[in-house]
Formats: sequence, C-alpha cells, structure tokens
Amino acid sequence: MSGSNVAVVGAGLCGCLLACFLARRGYEVTVYERRPDPRTSRPERGRSINLALSERGLNALRQIGLAEQVMADALPMRGRMIHPTEGELDFQPYSVDGQRAINSISRGALNNALLDAAEKAPGVRVVFGHKLVGLEPATGEMTFETEEGRVQVTAGVVLGADGSGSAVRGQLLAHDALTESLDFLDYGYKELSIPPADGDFALDPGALHIWPRGTSMMIALPNPDRSFTCTLFWPNGGTRSFASLSSPAAIERHFATHYPDLLPLAPNLVDDYHHNPVGLLGTVRCDPWHAHGRVGLIGDAAHAIVPFYGQGANCAMEDVVELDRCLADTAEDWSRALPLFHERRRDDTEAIAEMALANFVEMRDKVASPVFRLGKRVEHALERALPGRYVSRYELVSFSNTPYAEVRRRVQLQHRAVGVAALLAGAGLAAAGLRRWAP
Ligand code: FAD
Repeated sequence: MSGSNVAVVGAGLCGCLLACFLARRGYEVTVYERRPDPRTSRPERGRSINLALSERGLNALRQIGLAEQVMADALPMRGRMIHPTEGELDFQPYSVDGQRAINSISRGALNNALLDAAEKAPGVRVVFGHKLVGLEPATGEMTFETEEGRVQVTAGVVLGADGSGSAVRGQLLAHDALTESLDFLDYGYKELSIPPADGDFALDPGALHIWPRGTSMMIALPNPDRSFTCTLFWPNGGTRSFASLSSPAAIERHFATHYPDLLPLAPNLVDDYHHNPVGLLGTVRCDPWHAHGRVGLIGDAAHAIVPFYGQGANCAMEDVVELDRCLADTAEDWSRALPLFHERRRDDTEAIAEMALANFVEMRDKVASPVFRLGKRVEHALERALPGRYVSRYELVSFSNTPYAEVRRRVQLQHRAVGVAALLAGAGLAAAGLRRWAP
C-alpha cells in the first residue's frame, strides 16, 4: 500500500516532530489540529506550562537540528530541592557528579518551535481548527469538525498523535480494532504560580522543588521569565482534597499549615486556586497500536503515563525516533512498520508507565526521609566505586537512551547484586566476629 500521503492527527509535541521526521523521508504530510494556532492565540489557563526535557527528547530534537534552539531558553535543574514543613531545605543532586541536569522548558515555546519546523519542512501542511470526529480505519477516510462544518478527507496512512484522550484511538475502539484500559489515579493536579521577587527568581532556579507531604505533594519548575510554575497533586475526593477548600481563608490556612514557605511567595495563590482547573492523571494502555496496516497510534495516544518521572513527552519524542527506524527497517512498508513499532515499544512504554507510578510514591512519601537520603548517598557511592557498572535508575531514565525495559531489567539486577553483596559482607563480618570470639 502506498503511504506517500500521510495524515497526522494532533499538532502537539509528538505530531509536529513526527511530521518533521516524515518530511525527511519525502512524505506529503498534513497535520490536523483541533485547536487554533497556538502561536497566535491565548494559551489555556493552568495546563502544564512547563516540562522537564531530558536526554530522550533532546536526542530526537537533535536529529532535526532543533536541540540547540530549544536549549537556548532551558533552565537546567541539577537536583531536587526538598522543602520540609519545618527546617532546612535539602538539595539532592540527580547525578553522582552533581552536574547532570534535566531541563525546565516552556511547553508552549517547544510546541511553537516544533510547529515552525514542521511548517518549514518540505511537503508538510498544518491545518488548525480541525477536530477529528470520525475515521474509517479500513479506508483512511476521516471526518473533521471545523468552523465551516464537517469535512471529509482520505489519507493513505493516518497516525493518531492526538494525546491521552485520542479520538483516533476512540475510533479504532468503536471499530473493534483494539482494546483499551484507562487507569485514572485518585489524584488530580492544579497549577499555581510564584512570580519573580524583585525581578529575580524567588527560589533557586537550578533545582526542581518538591514539597513532599505524604498524601499530597507539590513541585515547582522555573520559567525563563523568572517565575515558577507549581503543580499541586492532591486527591480528587474526600475530606482532604481539592474540593475541600473553597473560601480564600481556608485556602490560605491550608497552605500556611502545609506549605508555609510558599505562602509569602505566591501572591496570586487564591486566584490561581479558584480559577485553574484540576487536571486528570492516568495511565492509558491499548492493544494493538495499529489497524489495517494504515492507521497507527503514537505518543500519549498509544500509552499516556502519569507525569512523575517527567518522561511522557520525552517518551513520545523517542517514539518518533523508533517509528522512523521501523520505516527504515521495513523499506517503508507501513503494513509492516506499524506492527513492528508496537512490538519494539510495547515493553518499553509499559516499563516507564510502571516506573512513573512508582516515582509518585518516592516523590510524595520518601524523598524527605533520612533512610531515603542515606540510600541515595549509598547509590552515588556505588556509582563512584563501579563507574559504568552500577548506574542509578534515575540516571538511566533521564540521562541515557537505554530502552526503558532494559533500564528496569538492569536496575533489578543491580539491586539483587547489591543485596547479595550486603548479605555476603554481613556474613563475612559475622564469620570474622565468630573467629575473634571463638575460644
Ligand atoms: P499532546 O501533547 O496531548 O498533544 C496532542 C495534540 O492533539 C494536542 O495539540 C491536541 O489539541 C490535539 N488533538 C486532540 N484531540 C484531537 C482531535 N480530535 N483532532 C485533532 N487534534 C486533536 N512529560 C515530560 O516529558 N516531562 C515533564 O516534565 C512532563 N510534565 C507533565 C506535567 C503534567 C501535569 C502533565 C499532565 C504531563 C506532563 N508530561 C511531561 C507529559 C507530556 O505532557 C505528554 O506526555 C506529552 O504532551 C505527550 O505529547 P503528545 O504530542 O503525544 O500529546
């Protein structure tokens, strides 16, 4: 089947990057986006303003020559800054040398840079205000809702890069072409802001700030305008949840008790709290990610994850690199490339989905505990003692392109080896002790 005419649904991070990669292979690509052009319209309020870009996303951007431009405005974060309810801040470096960083970047600026790159690429057209509402997977016929009414378009290949609530996935489900599971977390998120203080950052911009509070958690990432965007994660229902605070006094009281150092830095707290929406968090799984050899899913549309490892966008961009590889390995036969892509990425995306969920527990519960801090120091000592042989999970996920499933396998082996070594060391000490005390 000829795939020279490709429709990409969704002009988010993944869709725009995908269009750039496909253009390099000579495809005619049309990207359909439901929203208006974000470069000329107002951004939505309170929707994930910034994100942490790390090696996997950078690796993809490097391949289309965009990494340098994107990194020009990035703010490197070399570790976590833990804010306890009382007491000193605690900085925990991400890497053993304290130098490696994840990068806080503006989601809007990244999306705009990718849109510009896609539009400049030969053979790519981006159309806004086109919301996919219908798809015949067998023929590639799509129906879009536009301001002028419904329009129908047919493409040789249709790629759904339309995010976690993917309409393409919904259409495949309606045609019995896949199965789907959506695991929503009991937690939602709300964005709050810390403006610059006297023209400067109100907190250290070289760290990702965390307020771990057991059943809730807040993080803050710096922005190029010297503000911070905070994301508060809290249960969706119950007596201690977003819904439990309504009056300005109750909101201020809650933050004064649980986030006392935030209150003086966030003059718009009550307004942000009232007006910014509560976003949903969850894991999306579906199987397969393709149908009829001509329709495929990619990025969040195929495998959305919770944001606690800062990997959703990085993973979506890594998907694009892998799909490109699958096209190369199948001589651009889409009916083989799409199943191969699913086969190669399935275990990796499942692994990062699990690690992201586990990281939520680590961030909200463990990072403040002395045992956790000791564990991190031991881990860094092992990395120094066994360079290249013992590498922490964080390092492998954020600072390497090692496939996620391989990271999971390797970390399990390392933990087992350390456990055995500790047992042996313990046994050795016990034997030495027995020898010393033996008559
Ligand atoms: P999206 O970014 O969702 O883009 C989908 C696009 O499709 C959108 O433009 C949408 O308008 C369009 N669309 C949707 N439906 C239709 C339709 N019917 N027709 C046409 N167009 C449509 N990831 C990281 O790597 N690092 C982070 O630090 C990080 N932080 C996060 C923080 C939060 C609070 C959240 C919620 C997520 C975070 N993520 C992070 C995850 C990241 O946002 C996603 O994984 C990433 O945006 C996925 O990109 P995508 O292009 O697949 O989907």
